[in-house]
Amino acid sequence: MTGLPVKLCDVCPKPGNCCKTITLTEYQDNKPYGFLSMWLPASSRLYALVKLASRDMPFLPLPEPEYGELDGKKYANYKVSCPELLPHGRCGIYEHRPQLCKDYAPASDALCVYYQPEGELK
Ligand code: SF4
Ligand code: SF4
Repeated sequence: MTGLPVKLCDVCPKPGNCCKTITLTEYQDNKPYGFLSMWLPASSRLYALVKLASRDMPFLPLPEPEYGELDGKKYANYKVSCPELLPHGRCGIYEHRPQLCKDYAPASDALCVYYQPEGELK
């Protein structure tokens, strides 16, 4: 995400756009970033906060996750905000950002302003 040493980010018209509307998905089998392992809607935000912190993720989960089931597996979508996003749209902890952020490939999905469903760059 923001701050990655790739050319697209260097010329991005909306740096940090990729950090503003993140949805983390927790699958029942704990993939891909299994940071939750319980299904407790009543206390899920607190639980998510604790688990995110324990995995060194700075994100703040927004109030209620969205639960669902796909191919027989339960999942929860947590929308999160990132307090490390600086006002000018760059990462405040670039050197220590989560692996999830390091793994993000610009233009790979709708979080990035350069994303196009056809896979072509604007
Ligand atoms: S929106 Fe895309 S190009 Fe802009 S900073 Fe994020 S990943 Fe880089
Ligand atoms: S830690 Fe940095 S790269 Fe990751 S979402 Fe927050 S501001 Fe973006």
